[in-house]
Amino acid sequence: MAKKVTRKAGKYVYFFGSKTDGNGSMKPLLGGKGANLAEMCRIGLPVPPGFTITTEVCTYYYDHKRTYPSALRAQMEAGVTALERQTRKKFGDLTNPLLVSVRSGARDSMPGMMDTILNLGLNDQTVEALAKKTNNARFAWDCYRRFVQMYGDVVLGVQKRPDEDHEPFETVIHALKHERYHGDIEDTALNVDDLKELVTRFKALVKDRVGKKFPSSPWEQLMGSVGAVFGSWMNDRAIVYRRKYNIPTEWGTAVNVQAMVYGNTGDRSGSGVAFTRNPANGAKEFYGEFLINAQGEDVVAGVRTPEPVEDLRKHLPKAHAELERIRQKLEKHFKDVQDFEFTIEDGVVYMLQTRNGKRTAMAALKFSMDMYKEKLIDWKTAVMRNPADQLEQLLAPVFDTVELGRTSAIATGLPAGPGAASGRIYLNADRAVVAAEKGEQVLLVRLETSPEDLRGMIAAEGILTARGGVSSHAALVARQMGKVCVCGAAAVEVDYQSRTVTVAGRTYKEGDWLSIDGTAGKVYAGQVKTAPSEIVAGLVDGDEAARKTQKFKSFQQLMKWCSDASRMSVRTNADTPEQVENAMAFGAVGIGLCRTEHMFFEGDRIDAMREMILAETLEARKSALAKLLPYQRDDFAGIFRALKGYPATIRFLDPPLHEFLPHTREQQEDLARKIGVKPEAVHARVEQLHEFNPMLGFRGCRLGIGYPEISEMQARAVFEAAVIVQKEGIKVRPEIMIPLVGFKKELDLQLDVVHRVAREVQAERKVKLTYIVGTMIEVPRGALTAGEIAQSAEFFSFGTNDLTQTTLGMSRDDSGSFLPNYTELEIVKKNPFATIDQTGVGQLVETAVARGRQTRPALKLGICGEHGGDPASIQFFETVGLDYVSCSPYRVPVARLAAAQAALSAKKG
Ligand code: PEP
Ligand code: MG
Repeated sequence: MAKKVTRKAGKYVYFFGSKTDGNGSMKPLLGGKGANLAEMCRIGLPVPPGFTITTEVCTYYYDHKRTYPSALRAQMEAGVTALERQTRKKFGDLTNPLLVSVRSGARDSMPGMMDTILNLGLNDQTVEALAKKTNNARFAWDCYRRFVQMYGDVVLGVQKRPDEDHEPFETVIHALKHERYHGDIEDTALNVDDLKELVTRFKALVKDRVGKKFPSSPWEQLMGSVGAVFGSWMNDRAIVYRRKYNIPTEWGTAVNVQAMVYGNTGDRSGSGVAFTRNPANGAKEFYGEFLINAQGEDVVAGVRTPEPVEDLRKHLPKAHAELERIRQKLEKHFKDVQDFEFTIEDGVVYMLQTRNGKRTAMAALKFSMDMYKEKLIDWKTAVMRNPADQLEQLLAPVFDTVELGRTSAIATGLPAGPGAASGRIYLNADRAVVAAEKGEQVLLVRLETSPEDLRGMIAAEGILTARGGVSSHAALVARQMGKVCVCGAAAVEVDYQSRTVTVAGRTYKEGDWLSIDGTAGKVYAGQVKTAPSEIVAGLVDGDEAARKTQKFKSFQQLMKWCSDASRMSVRTNADTPEQVENAMAFGAVGIGLCRTEHMFFEGDRIDAMREMILAETLEARKSALAKLLPYQRDDFAGIFRALKGYPATIRFLDPPLHEFLPHTREQQEDLARKIGVKPEAVHARVEQLHEFNPMLGFRGCRLGIGYPEISEMQARAVFEAAVIVQKEGIKVRPEIMIPLVGFKKELDLQLDVVHRVAREVQAERKVKLTYIVGTMIEVPRGALTAGEIAQSAEFFSFGTNDLTQTTLGMSRDDSGSFLPNYTELEIVKKNPFATIDQTGVGQLVETAVARGRQTRPALKLGICGEHGGDPASIQFFETVGLDYVSCSPYRVPVARLAAAQAALSAKKG
């Protein structure tokens, strides 16, 4: 692809066609669509000519109270003149009128989020000219009614009101069909007279809703549309989409104005959307769909159910062969799977768009493996082609085959988003969101979805639609979000009014359960049990059949490449041998955080723990601790065995003590009875331990400093377990970690205890142990004084949960009440507890890394906060030079992939 960026100051309009100004590398300026239209022209594909108005104009528009740079109009006029020359038509002409489409196109595609206007340039006069010129009045009036409808909706804002379930223009069409034909006939069956009547009624609707006459001047229409496309950058659904996919508002959108080609001239015309390979399961097959006698929007809107692209071979064999040729050429050139739009006008194929196709994790995996084998890409590119934040989809459950055998599908649709989902059905996005917020498992069921349903789709476990094809909005968005989705299940009757769904004679109310299989495209009644994916079955359960599947093998290949590419290693946060085994099956190479407090909640240990906390004297505390010691020792031994020689970072007691205490009267009385004290004594001690800000209170190393005997017991448990397991011939590598350190002295006091106990145990058992002691860096003072702390600490592990909490002064447990608003207002781009706040918290991490390593060059550095499993954060940890990240077991593959990708991009620079 040509990389030279020919960008001139003051140039706002880039032409493509017989002369092409831009190229595929210019996405920031021309948007994805504009840049690729230019690129397709350059490689000789049939693209109708047009021009792109740059994203800089969008930025200007918002910076200057929605006005344009003064030079824009003249450049657009030159663009239109060039189009006229090339098409030999004239904008607004009364014999051979040029019609154009106006489409948005941001740097990253945002499917269906922004606006499009087709057939622009029509009015009561030009429509007659078009009819005459093409000798096809039906076609001309069909274009006109589409134009009035789209322009009315997008530019003039005639849209569904909150109390309406249908678009107002669709309601008008519906009424006319029923008046004249007494039923739902296809749009293609409407005759010229019907279409003329629709145009009249549409115009009346516009007048009624917005109090304005429909504009007839082509230039007024064009400027209105350009403004609407720029305006749509800030519409609610585009904002929601950008937030979800982390697209900066500053990028803006470009606008593409392009000569129309017509898919609606008759039976030798049509429109379609296709992928060079199957984006749902990754198969190497031409995949897509088309509608005869239709314009592009019909395919995407899901109003008519399209036919598979293979069937085009029968209808229009030449066009099919041409599309096959284009398919090959696109992959060869772009070296990735393309998703493209085409129009066939009287048998001739035109390309309207191409972009890298959105794909499921499953398809991404298969594409990357196949394209590597086909030598289209190298192994590093193959690693980069698997989106880390989607990888969890591959681990998602499938329906339990035994259960499935007992039931049969009640409806079949298109398999649009793989996986299995069960949920309570809701027929409207808002109600789905409310139910999900209440903790319900939700299935969103719609006739078809539109971008307004985005919030509901995000909230739902799965999406089921009655209409639409694999490239309908529902399918596209579901695929990208990794949602399970079945679309076009025609047997599902959706009644918005009564809020019911009827399938195979049975009616389901909102709140009833349905299940969908997005891999097979099937719908089931009730709640079907799910089973683990082949990858989980193969790795965690050692299922031999699962290990033989292609999915499993490809996944393992990818993980191997990840190991080859990574600099950082991936550990896990685990507190039980089972968790350790799972994480190791996924490729973790040790424990990055064992939260020892979790071990105190099991069985009757909590009683001994409570007894310890309630103890008034050292003696009493020691006696309770003695009861806890064997439990901890057994736990650690189990963990060391499971680790098979990998290191274990074991953190000493961290949470505020009151978290362990009984808070109800009954629990307090029960405990008093068990440990032989008066209920009042328990109650009084609980009161005494009450704190106003427990997260900033008596917790972390403050506990071990206040009660050294607790750390002493924990150290003894670790070392005694180490001795036992080492004697069994298994290598043991304990790394003791002191939490919440802000002062070097805090760490030193705990080090004294740990080293003393280590000496004692080694002397008692006459063995030599290897261990290290380090600290968490999770308060700002710890990060700032890391240089001093590193004199004592042999490793740092960043506790980014607490570090975020203490740096932002935001309670990690209470931020739910205000963070959504902060995200909405874009005060924070992403939830800082999920993705590290690089500019703030990240600065402290960088400081601590630099100061720590200055003192101790070999200082080992890791991260064990939740951010350790977040791809964007992992990218950052790579750049600051950490040695490892640690995350929950099921996030390990995601972290491995993200670590590999971070290393590969760091190398590329
Ligand atoms: C942290 O604070 O990031 C951490 C890992 O510890 P915890 O979540 O247990 O406070
Ligand atoms: Mg912490």
